[in-house]
Amino acid sequence: NPGSSAELARTLVDAVSVDPATVVARVRATFETGRTRPLAWRLAQLNALRALLVEESDEFLAALNADLGKSATEAQRSEVGFVVNEIDHTVAHLEQWLRPRPAGVPAAFMPAEARVVRDPLGVVLIIAPWNYPLQLALAPLVGALAAGNTAVLKPSEMAPATSAAMARLIPRYLDREAVAVVEGAVAETTALLEQRFDHIFYTGNGAVGRIVMTAAAKHLTPVTLELGGKSPAVVEPGADLTVTAQRIARGRFQNAGQTCVAPDYVLAIGATAAALEAELVTAVRALYGENPATNSEYGRIVNERHHDRLTALLGDGRIVTGGTHDRASRYLAPTVLADVSPEAPVMQAEIFGPVLPIVGVPDLDAAIAFINERDKPLALYAFTESEETKQRLTEETSSGGLVFGLTVAHLAVPELPFGGVGESGMGRYHGEYSIDTFSHLKAVLDKPIA
Ligand code: NAD
Repeated sequence: NPGSSAELARTLVDAVSVDPATVVARVRATFETGRTRPLAWRLAQLNALRALLVEESDEFLAALNADLGKSATEAQRSEVGFVVNEIDHTVAHLEQWLRPRPAGVPAAFMPAEARVVRDPLGVVLIIAPWNYPLQLALAPLVGALAAGNTAVLKPSEMAPATSAAMARLIPRYLDREAVAVVEGAVAETTALLEQRFDHIFYTGNGAVGRIVMTAAAKHLTPVTLELGGKSPAVVEPGADLTVTAQRIARGRFQNAGQTCVAPDYVLAIGATAAALEAELVTAVRALYGENPATNSEYGRIVNERHHDRLTALLGDGRIVTGGTHDRASRYLAPTVLADVSPEAPVMQAEIFGPVLPIVGVPDLDAAIAFINERDKPLALYAFTESEETKQRLTEETSSGGLVFGLTVAHLAVPELPFGGVGESGMGRYHGEYSIDTFSHLKAVLDKPIA
């Protein structure tokens, strides 16, 4: 009952209890009552989260538009709708996922029974980034609650409207003694990280990932780090370059390039480098028209600092399309750069914006060597008709995910684990993998005494 005196009183209590130690103590006390363990509580929370997303979707779409210029179509698909799908998949399977799994027992122990039981961990800290500020806060929360934990959620201060909307609305729908939202930037996150958690789930960059893991080490807290990096798109001769260009462009330029699994650069084998240029120009035009600045489907750069960083990269190759920008509106046109040297600045770190370099390599061996000389990517994309190439890329490279013929889409397949390896992160989530991430897999052996 928003606006009632009881609601007002609770809001005042929340306002005075932003002290991180108090917040964590509160949700820990809730966990210790045991009320988050029954399946019924977990399903009720997931259904309440679903209701929040459906009933307040206008608020969230407006916030995402204010923060990132996200269109309603894109925000519905990749943020609100994404989390609703994750909830539906989880609700449909949770009872089965939580069933103890029987395990075989060696003859020497017989008679006896063995099983694996998924135990909730306790209090989970979720630290979210700004680029998909709703999805990357709430999809981990789905897993944490489904596994029977309580949670503290720290949204990104760089998406302030979405952060404020979650902080205001989540307590109205979810068990407010079990889920706390703490807004803030570095100071607030640092203070939170001093507390003891039972799991920390961090999405963002690797520099902060190291800070998170160091803080977690003090309490021996396990971490999941969902990080980023440069995800290549390998293109082999023989692939349909029209379709290839469309699928690369869509993945690269959605959310104005600010997608952790966006194809970061094209690794074009042989003659495909030159042939792809015209196809990418056509693909960008088909997506956003002659002037993307006036197309509401095209997003904006999150802030001026990132806008400046990105425009500094535009000289690193021959501009095939795009290159125009406007700092005041944080606009940067979808840009394709050709003839890019592997030594150019644009090839040194994750671009995280609407700039797509094409780097040429002579053959598949050179492409594989190029990938393996660098940090392990969060995603590897390949466009090829050759089963042998698919086999070689599967066996001879390491990446968080590997996708043939598409970009970005693997994270929307709920039965696939999502996560990185090496510099792109550790751990995984989505669907049943979230249950394993946010549970302890307890070994239970039961032998009759007599
Ligand atoms: P960000 O700046 O929003 O930071 C992420 C979180 O870390 C925020 O909540 C922020 O408050 C907190 N933070 C920042 N500095 C901190 C500090 N010194 N100490 C403690 N906490 C701190 O987001 P970002 O890092 O710019 O996000 C972009 C990066 O995230 C890219 O590298 C991208 O690839 C990666 N990413 C990965 C995934 C994934 O699922 N693997 C998803 C999205 C983004």
